Amino acid sequence: MGEDTEVCVIGAGPAGLALTLMLLRSGARVTLVERATGFDREFRGEILQPGGQAVLASLGVLDAVRTRGACRLDRFQLVDGDRTLLDIDYRRLPEPHDHLLAVPQRHLLVELLAACREHEGFEYLDGHRVSELLRDGDRYTGAVVTGQGKRAITAKVVVGADGRYSKTRALAGIDAGRHDAFDQDVLWFKLFAPGR
Ligand SMILES: Cc1cc2nc3c(=O)[nH]c(=O)nc-3n(C[C@H](O)[C@H](O)[C@H](O)COP(=O)(O)OP(=O)(O)OC[C@H]3O[C@@H](n4cnc5c(N)ncnc54)[C@H](O)[C@@H]3O)c2cc1C
Repeated sequence: MGEDTEVCVIGAGPAGLALTLMLLRSGARVTLVERATGFDREFRGEILQPGGQAVLASLGVLDAVRTRGACRLDRFQLVDGDRTLLDIDYRRLPEPHDHLLAVPQRHLLVELLAACREHEGFEYLDGHRVSELLRDGDRYTGAVVTGQGKRAITAKVVVGADGRYSKTRALAGIDAGRHDAFDQDVLWFKLFAPGR
């Protein structure tokens, strides 16, 4: 019996959506499972590095992402007290990706999803989270996802793109070898400009 889909990707963050689009463009059928129903996700990185911009340009979504609203940044400095730890001038890179792009992650996710929806072999299950993996001997053959109901999705390949605390990875018994002991913390917040 044939599978429901060729690839079942768990997690529609930047990685899951970009991979899904690449697979669809190469002709594969993909079911993408995402626990959230909107685009305001837990992690909302907002700076696109030149390498990331190049990948998105090759996927044909960068211009649409820019059009939704983005800000070009030429330099990046990291300062610790009176020491400058990093001082990068992106203008030294070859055009067109010779800058950073500050862009809300939501813009990126919206455009990647819209591009995925243009492909026939695409199925998007938002509001669903993975709860079990299907197994046949030593091979994973799909995933059970829970949303309004429970659904078993059979697939040739299951991809865990569900973030750093991946449930898929845990269900598959894969140790990520993470060490969460850092000697510095980063505080991340947004400041709104007055009068806007
Ligand atoms: C505070 C902060 C600031 C950052 N700033 C930047 C930045 O400026 N630039 C940059 O490039 N990176 C930045 N990052 C890193 C960036 O956010 C991550 O590298 C990126 O989000 C990783 O993408 P991902 O798709 O692998 O995972 P995620 O973005 O974590 O996406 C995982 C997806 O899987 C879904 N999911 C989770 N569990 C399940 C489940 N059980 N079933 C179904 N779906 C599930 C989640 O809802 C989510 O949509 C920042 C991270 C943080 C925390």
